[in-house]
Formats: sequence, structure tokens, C-alpha cells
Amino acid sequence: MRNSSPDVLMLTREAYSSLLDHGQTCLPNEACGLLVYSQQPRLDSSPDSTATHALIVDTIVPIPNAHPHPLHAFAFEPQAWTAALYRLMQTKQTLVGYYHSHPTTTAIPSAADASGLPIGSDPVMLIVSFAAATAELNAYRHISFSHTWESLALALVPPSLQPK
Ligand SMILES: [Zn+2]
Repeated sequence: MRNSSPDVLMLTREAYSSLLDHGQTCLPNEACGLLVYSQQPRLDSSPDSTATHALIVDTIVPIPNAHPHPLHAFAFEPQAWTAALYRLMQTKQTLVGYYHSHPTTTAIPSAADASGLPIGSDPVMLIVSFAAATAELNAYRHISFSHTWESLALALVPPSLQPK
């Protein structure tokens, strides 16, 4: 059973700028891809089990958007998705979650956003919006059981926790 303490999704500066770059490169279409951590799956900020958990992302893996209407939706191109997951197993990297962009709407999940996600795994989804002059990022966990989105806090990784 999942710990009920709040999670924080943390991005390194490199992952953050790669994410913005990929989203901007794909405009006006939606961009999508994987959020990856190169080391252990979770880094607890404290041994206290009630403490906040940090999900760390240091790598962005862009996946081509194969949706027939890429201006308004995304679908991971199946071969690239499979190849990327296989590469993560080989390099012992951790799949933290997924991301996609909203070129013209806010960073709120759309009705279709859960459709491409794996069932039953409560995946993390980061949405980057280019609707305003400054990119807006929101992180969520999709709760498969209730078909709802739970907000996650989002932060940049502090220098002391930057992977070596
Ligand atoms: Zn969306």
C-alpha cells in the first residue's frame, strides 16, 4: 500500500532545461517523454517515515508523439517507448514518471491525459504549459483506482542532492 505522506517531484536544473527545450522544439505540437532517475529509485529526505518523499528526476527521455492530433493530445510512439524502457533496464536507471506539454492550455490534466498511461501503477505525470509567456509546470500522480489526479509538489533539486 502506498505511503500517504506527500511526495515531492524534484528536477535537476539539467532535466528542467531539457524538458523546456523539448517542449519548445515540438511546438505547436504536444511533446511527451519519460522522467528518469539515474540512481536509486527514491531518496528519502529523512528516515522518519512520515516525512515527505522526494522523487528525483535527472534525465529526460523524449519520445515521439504519435497521436493523430498532436496539437491537442499525445501518445507515446510504441516502438520508441518500448526501446526506451528496455534501455532503462540495461542501464539500471529508474522510470520516475512521464511528462507532456500543453502548447496553448494551462498545466492542468485534460480528460484524455490518463488514456495513454499504464493501468494500475499510479504513475507520475509532469505537465509543462506554454500558454503564458513563462512556462508553467505542474506535477500530478494519476490515481488509477479513482481515476483522479493528485497534485504533487514540484521543486528543483538543491545542490546538496545533485547526483554526482
Ligand atoms: Zn495533456
